[in-house]
Amino acid sequence: MIQKSQSVVKNLPFKEIDIFSQLRIEELKYRAIFIIYLKMRIQTGDKMEVKLDELLDLRKTLHRNAELSGKEEKTSALIKDYLNIYPPDNVIDGLGGYGLGAIYKSKSEGPTVLIRCDLDALPIPESIDLEYSSQADEVSHKCGHDGHMTIVSGLAQVLHNTRPERGRVVLLYQPGEEVGKGAQWVLDDEKFSQIAPDYVFALHNLPGFPLGQVIYREGTFASASKGLIVELMGETSHAAEPQKGKSPAMAVAQLINGFSAISQFHSALNDAAQVTVIHARVGERAFGTSPGYGTVMATLRSHSDEVMDRISAKCEDMVKGLSKSWNLKTKIQWDEIFPSTVNDSEMVKLIALIANDLGLDKFEQPIPFPWSEDFGNFTDRYKGALIGLGAGENQPALHHPTYDFPDDLIIIGVQLFEEIIRRLLSK
Ligand SMILES: [Zn+2]
Ligand SMILES: [Zn+2]
Repeated sequence: MIQKSQSVVKNLPFKEIDIFSQLRIEELKYRAIFIIYLKMRIQTGDKMEVKLDELLDLRKTLHRNAELSGKEEKTSALIKDYLNIYPPDNVIDGLGGYGLGAIYKSKSEGPTVLIRCDLDALPIPESIDLEYSSQADEVSHKCGHDGHMTIVSGLAQVLHNTRPERGRVVLLYQPGEEVGKGAQWVLDDEKFSQIAPDYVFALHNLPGFPLGQVIYREGTFASASKGLIVELMGETSHAAEPQKGKSPAMAVAQLINGFSAISQFHSALNDAAQVTVIHARVGERAFGTSPGYGTVMATLRSHSDEVMDRISAKCEDMVKGLSKSWNLKTKIQWDEIFPSTVNDSEMVKLIALIANDLGLDKFEQPIPFPWSEDFGNFTDRYKGALIGLGAGENQPALHHPTYDFPDDLIIIGVQLFEEIIRRLLSK
C-alpha cells in the first residue's frame, strides 16, 4: 500500500498561504468584480483569450490518432508539436514512458501547481461515424482523454500569454492511465524530481451528470481497485483415475465461492468492499484428462486503501488455505492497482468556490464513485483534487463504443483550471 505522506505537504519550501483567510478579507469585493468581469467576457464572446477553433482541431487530431496505454508515441509527438506554438520554459520529455511535463514559470518564488491529463485510449473499436473517427484498428478514445488533453493544451495558450504571478505551473500529459500504471511510471521517473509539485489537480468528464456541472467531493472521490490473478498448479492424470493426480477443480470452485462471499462475511456494512470474480478456468477441453492447472481472477474494490489491504490479505489467506487443503502449488499476482483518490478538503472548498464564482452548476457527490483513477497516486503524496465535469445526462457511458467527448467542456475545463492556478499563484 502507498502510505499517505502528509509530511511532504507540511515541509513545503515556501511559506504556505492561508488561501481562505486571504479570500475572506477581499471576498465580497473580489467576487462582485469577478462576476461582472466574467459576464462581460462571456457576453462579448471573449472566451478567456482561448483560441477555441485551434483546440477543436487538436481534439479531432488526437481522436484520429488514438493509441493504447504505454504506446502513446504519436499522441505525445502531437502534443509536443502543439506546445511549440505556446513554448513552455522547459519540456520534460519521456516522463514515465511517453509522458510530457510542460513547465511555465513566473518571475517569483512560489509553489508549483501540477495539472494532469491522460494520453491513452482504449482497446474499443469506434462504432460511431465521426468526421474524425479513430484511424487506429480497434482502438479509440472512449474515455474522453482526447478532451482532457485538449483542455490542458488550452491552458498552455493561457499560460503562454499570461504567466502566473508566482511559482510555476506544470502541465502533465500522463501515459498509461487506463491500466492503472501510468501515474506510478511518472512518479518513479527520476525526471519527476524536476517537477516536485505542491498542488495537483486533474479532471475527468462524467457522463450521466448535466453538461458542464462541476462535481466535487472532500475525501475519497474515486475508489481503490485491484486485479487479482490466482494460478493453481496440481498434476494431471487420466480422467478415469482422478485420484492419481492433483486436480485444482475443487479449489477453483471454492475460491469462486469464497471470493464472492468476502464482502458479506469479512467486511462491515460501511467498509464498501467488493470482490467480483471476472474469470475462471480449469484444465482444457480434453475429456480424457483430469486437470492439473486452474486459474481464478477477481477485481477487488473499496472506498479506502485500508479496507483494500484487509480484503486483499483475506483473499491471499484463502488461496494459501486451499493450496494446503488440496496439495497444490499456487501463484498470486496483483495487477492494475489503483489506490483510492482522496481529495484534500481545502482544495475541494476552493474548487466549489471557483465553480460558484464562474457561475457553473455544481454538485457535491455524496458518496465516493465506485470506479478508479490512477490520479490517486498523486493525491496520496500531494495536496490536490480530482474534479468531475458533467458530460451530459444522455451521454453514453465512459468506455461505451458510442461515447465521444463533448467539446462544450473544453472552455469550461480551461476556465476552471485557469482560475485554480490564478488563486493559488497570485501574490
Ligand atoms: Zn477510462
Ligand atoms: Zn478516463
